[in-house]
Amino acid sequence: MAHRVTLIPGDGVGPELVAAARRVLDASGAEIEWEVQEAGLTVMDKEGTPLPKRVLDSIRRNKVGLKGPMTTPRGAGIRSVNVALRKELDLYACLRPCKHYPGVRSRFPGVDVVVVRENTEDLYAGVEFAEGTPEAKQIIALAQGKIRDDAAISIKPISAFGSQRIADFAFKYALANGRRKVTAVAKDNIMKATDGLFFRTAREVAKRYEGRVQYDEWLVDAMCMQLVQKAELYDVLVMPNLYGDILSDLCAGLVGGLGVTPGANIGSDVAVFEATHGSAPKYAGMNKVNPTALILSGVLMLRHLGEAEAADRVEAAVAAVIAEGKHVTYDLRPNRDDPNAAGTREMADAIIARMAVL
Ligand code: NAD
Repeated sequence: MAHRVTLIPGDGVGPELVAAARRVLDASGAEIEWEVQEAGLTVMDKEGTPLPKRVLDSIRRNKVGLKGPMTTPRGAGIRSVNVALRKELDLYACLRPCKHYPGVRSRFPGVDVVVVRENTEDLYAGVEFAEGTPEAKQIIALAQGKIRDDAAISIKPISAFGSQRIADFAFKYALANGRRKVTAVAKDNIMKATDGLFFRTAREVAKRYEGRVQYDEWLVDAMCMQLVQKAELYDVLVMPNLYGDILSDLCAGLVGGLGVTPGANIGSDVAVFEATHGSAPKYAGMNKVNPTALILSGVLMLRHLGEAEAADRVEAAVAAVIAEGKHVTYDLRPNRDDPNAAGTREMADAIIARMAVL
């Protein structure tokens, strides 16, 4: 039976990347019925919101979405659609596999780690008090001399519930994807309450997977050095929101940058797959940017849908096209100004052609 998937083209370079990814996924052997839902800047004027209810309803109904990047105009008072989607659908796990494909320029060949980031809590909860406000003053009084009078305050909530479900997600992901180890990352030597709770909870969850998936813990600062020096020792990394945000970009950098790094935001019932890069507005409509990150996000989606063979086929074709280095976009060419670089469409064509002979 065909899988129904909500397809959100997004804006900037989104529509051309989504069109390329759609063609590749359609050629993968998996049967997908796409339900196209426009969102973002393109619908703002017509519908008064960048994220109409019909989009959320569609994802809730289909349980799976593939989305192009969306622009968040600076200072225009528009809430990020990307953040709103994660909040509305409670997409608590941000998944960022960072794997090096031969042919992509990187100082760290062979890296293959998966960052699992808690998406809803921590300093990103949005509980903040500007300096001098009555709330800030109340907290400063509670802190008994540990905070200066003129401080602004951001609250860092980490719950047992949130830590439990993200740790459980990481172990389940490891098991389902043949990964050997989960490493929890935080800083409990300093933040004994919040990060202490995160580690204690992860440890408890780890017991349930004993004998099937290994477990260890690292302080976040030490982990940064480990990743740069010996990333091959690590497999699945699970961490609270802020560390996850930073380490997922670090790991993307290790494997060659945002153009090749897929992502997913996953909840208990629904999942939305998207590249980690933004809408690169200056390249919109130019048939120029790299479709790899979105296509590999589609590979994650195929695995999520239980279409492992189709996923393997697409991934192998992407890897082969990148390794050959002929039909790749400007960012994967030795010289970024190379006039012979492939366009977005041509790179997708090469991936489709490669799949046919695999
Ligand atoms: P960006 O990722 O859009 O682009 C930064 C630069 O990275 C580009 O100029 C380009 O040189 C390069 N790049 C990005 N994607 C590429 C690709 N596929 N192939 C080749 N090169 C690529 O980051 P930005 O300029 O900071 O953000 C632009 C807009 O995107 C902003 O409005 C931001 O809010 C939004 N954004 C959206 C998402 C999302 O939809 N999930 C994520 C990040 C940023």
